[in-house]
Amino acid sequence: MKEEKAICPKCLHLVEEEKELDYPYYCPTCDKNLYGFEVKSVKELCSLDKYVEIDLELLRAKRKHPKFPEDMFHQLAIMQEEAGEVTKAVLQYKYEGGSFEDIKSELIQTAAMCMRMLENLK
Ligand SMILES: [Mg+2]
Ligand SMILES: [Zn+2]
Repeated sequence: MKEEKAICPKCLHLVEEEKELDYPYYCPTCDKNLYGFEVKSVKELCSLDKYVEIDLELLRAKRKHPKFPEDMFHQLAIMQEEAGEVTKAVLQYKYEGGSFEDIKSELIQTAAMCMRMLENLK
């Protein structure tokens, strides 16, 4: 059975199913046909646990604040507020004995807000 989302090992874009030639896949970016053993799966390429953390943070944020602004400047302000918290966490880590974990969780929160902005962008 084919991987649901096969990725070109060279350019890392999603490949398409080849319909005419005797290959399972075609990479439109590289203009090249690929065998099943050549393509990569999302699982192989992504550090999944980090993405799961971001996805969970996104779910938490949606539960806590179900409404997200439609205006992109307002969306940007929310995302950048989280990015500012990364700055604060890094400064506290460097100069005030802050924790490394705080930097990670602020980065995850920022990534989640980037995802939320992406989902709501129009
Ligand atoms: Mg935060
Ligand atoms: Zn490619």
